[in-house]
Amino acid sequence: MNLDKFSQRIEEVRQRSQFLESRASESPMPQQNALLEAIEQLNTALEELYVAQEELHQQNEQLNIANQQAENERQRYQELFDFAPDGYLVTNTDGKILQANQAATQLLNISKSFLIGKALVNFVPEEERRAFRNQFSGLSDIGRMQEWEIRLQARQGNIFDASLSVTPVFAPQDKFQGLRWLVRDITSRKQAEEKLRLIQKENLELQEVAHIKTQMMSVLSHELRTPLNSILGFSQLLLQRYYNLFPVELRDMIERIIKSGKHLLALIENMLDFSKLERDKLELNPEEFNLVELVRASTEELRCLAEQKNLSLVLHANIENPIVINDSVRLRQILVNLISNAIKFTDTGGVFVEVQQRNQHQVVLMVKDTGIGIPESELAHIFQEFWQVDKSTTRKYGGIGLGLAIADKLVRLMNGRITVESTINQGSTFRIQLPRNVSR
Ligand code: ADP
Repeated sequence: MNLDKFSQRIEEVRQRSQFLESRASESPMPQQNALLEAIEQLNTALEELYVAQEELHQQNEQLNIANQQAENERQRYQELFDFAPDGYLVTNTDGKILQANQAATQLLNISKSFLIGKALVNFVPEEERRAFRNQFSGLSDIGRMQEWEIRLQARQGNIFDASLSVTPVFAPQDKFQGLRWLVRDITSRKQAEEKLRLIQKENLELQEVAHIKTQMMSVLSHELRTPLNSILGFSQLLLQRYYNLFPVELRDMIERIIKSGKHLLALIENMLDFSKLERDKLELNPEEFNLVELVRASTEELRCLAEQKNLSLVLHANIENPIVINDSVRLRQILVNLISNAIKFTDTGGVFVEVQQRNQHQVVLMVKDTGIGIPESELAHIFQEFWQVDKSTTRKYGGIGLGLAIADKLVRLMNGRITVESTINQGSTFRIQLPRNVSR
């Protein structure tokens, strides 16, 4: 009975009691007293009922408020469920869909009314259903959340990669009641993973190619060096033995063979050095020597080249203690490369070589020129193997772009650093910073 009916009944009882009271006065005396007493008791009971009615009213009000709050909460959760960015589904123990949010309906491209009541397995592509069913049947035994990656098929056949987080729901007394599913479209993640896998594969292939390249360079250089040495040896012998017998023209030819042969040999030596450095097969032979003397000898070695181009070649040493421990052959190789590049790429002005003491433990070598300079965009690549600013350099100046790559690797091996600064048409400065003792 609801509260209004209850109030109505009390009112009816009150009216009847009034009616009885008026009728009682007409009754004979002895019954009249008993009746009035009964009516009095009835009125007291009525009074109590009124109080109870009031309390009920209040409780009813509170209940209504609590109901309203509960309804608000429910709506809030429903909205959270409906508008969540990921798909949510609730299924019964057989996998029949009981609830679905908007994201789930969008993912599966089907309206909610068609989705509810369908089995989830319907949205798994045919060929994967057996695996899905197997996993599904084990769910209630595992009893905790599980993550799966499967493919799902939306209504019009569009298949996508999805991750499913599924949680079994248990009623009191551990009765398996149903499942909650979180469904995410992971197509873009999968695509990114696939791209990454391809890049890694390509990287491996590139490493393999680089490895083969250095191996080939090493084998080729060895194979070329032996016959070239014999060509050079025999040409030199020919020239020495029969110098006076040969006409000038023939001597010139043999001298050209020797010059080109030496040039080729230098290139081959460079390739060998580079492939050794690439494979970490090159070791330094540190010894004690006078750095200024070494720089002077390297500079003098190239003086005639500078003179041929009318360039000045100046050495300046500013170092208190010139004794260092390093591989003198390799250091000379680096210097000769930098100075001959400086001469090669300079047409007017000159080349300035400087030795400095940076501090107690470090020295600095500088090779400065007033040549063509290097464009800023090229500076980052200049130490890469086979890199030449102007691709016609090889034809114009000779060289194959290995000198600086070797210098860079050697300086690193010496625990030093090589850097370059350059302004186009004004010149370049190569700076090498080295520890005084490389074997430490
Ligand atoms: P190579 O001289 O055998 O071509 P290097 O590795 O020694 O190879 O030099 C690579 C390139 O760097 C050169 O081809 C040239 O373009 C540029 N380069 C090197 N030194 C200088 C310099 N002093 N001035 C201008 N460009 C230079």
